[in-house]
Amino acid sequence: MQVTDTQDLATYDVVVVGGGAAGLGGALMLGRSRRSVLVVDAGEPRNAPASGVHGFLTRDGTDPAALLGVGREEVRGYGARVVDGRVASAESVDGGFIVTLEDGRRVGARRLLVTTGLVDELPDVPGVRERWGRDVLHCPYCHGWEVRDRPIGVLASGPTAMHQALLFRQLTEDLTLFLHTAPELTDEEAEQLAARGIAVVEGEVASLEVHEDRLTGVRLQNGEVIPRGAMVVGPRFAARAGMLAGLGLETTAHPSGMGEHVESGAMGLTAVPGVWVAGNVTDPTAQVLASANAGVMAGAAINADLVAEDTREAVAARRDLLSATAETGRS
Ligand SMILES: Cc1cc2nc3c(=O)[nH]c(=O)nc-3n(C[C@H](O)[C@H](O)[C@H](O)COP(=O)(O)OP(=O)(O)OC[C@H]3O[C@@H](n4cnc5c(N)ncnc54)[C@H](O)[C@@H]3O)c2cc1C
Repeated sequence: MQVTDTQDLATYDVVVVGGGAAGLGGALMLGRSRRSVLVVDAGEPRNAPASGVHGFLTRDGTDPAALLGVGREEVRGYGARVVDGRVASAESVDGGFIVTLEDGRRVGARRLLVTTGLVDELPDVPGVRERWGRDVLHCPYCHGWEVRDRPIGVLASGPTAMHQALLFRQLTEDLTLFLHTAPELTDEEAEQLAARGIAVVEGEVASLEVHEDRLTGVRLQNGEVIPRGAMVVGPRFAARAGMLAGLGLETTAHPSGMGEHVESGAMGLTAVPGVWVAGNVTDPTAQVLASANAGVMAGAAINADLVAEDTREAVAARRDLLSATAETGRS
């Protein structure tokens, strides 16, 4: 590993970029494998606006920040360093990588685990951003139970609106699909919605109505207000991958049609040797537990890769030593 010697940088076996569920999961495995690990985290996990993490067996409903706080303590317990900061870029150097933070700090790494998550690009309707993660939602498994039996609306703002409408119908009998700017329904879709008792409202949505910090309705362009207690939207998922550009890694369309991600193979390995990804940056559908597990799996894969490299280097060093000894014996 040349990074330390040539650049005089603090160098780690692994720098983990992003300290959400995926990054901390990876750091946990790497720390437990006695790897030197630095986690750099900008502190903006995707679910920050939500009041609880749901669908997480044994921790259901835990405050998102509290969950990550516990995770940080666990990884620190195995010697990993966790620092606040944002990675601006990374570049390949002989035998590893140099990672540059926005504040100018630079560190070396033999391997990179990138778990920067994604940005939910929300439909441009006044009120949506302000209520996001509270009574404007996207995922029935994350917050569906919390809004059960309310009058719920689904804003047709992405390719999954029909799917979302049918899923949220499981949670309320009072469901309305707002077609907004979406194309007309097919006959099959209209039949399915009618059969499940889901109302359909045509016309563009102008804004969401909020009263005393609660969503109360949906205002259409024609002025009509339809009372609703929660709204479902379909964000576009945009992987946070800017810092990977210097490594030649770019985002590609996710097969779901819902946005872009960084492609990876088994255990999160990317097209660039030595760079792994885990969590929402590569799998926008992964929830917190799945993201943590993806980080754990990537961490294990990185450790195995380092073990293989350490072994190759040890074998080469041993051979050199044996041949030097034999040389000395001959002379
Ligand atoms: C409103 C909402 C509610 C949700 N509720 C639930 C729920 O109840 N249950 C559930 O299982 N899932 C829920 N999810 C999904 C959940 O947010 C994701 O599964 C999870 O956050 C993915 O973890 P991650 O580690 O991949 O990314 P994140 O949690 O987004 O973490 C990425 C981290 O990387 C940091 N980062 C980004 N770029 C950089 C950089 N360049 N340098 C350093 N750090 C960087 C970010 O600041 C962030 O801290 C919810 C999502 C949303 C939007």
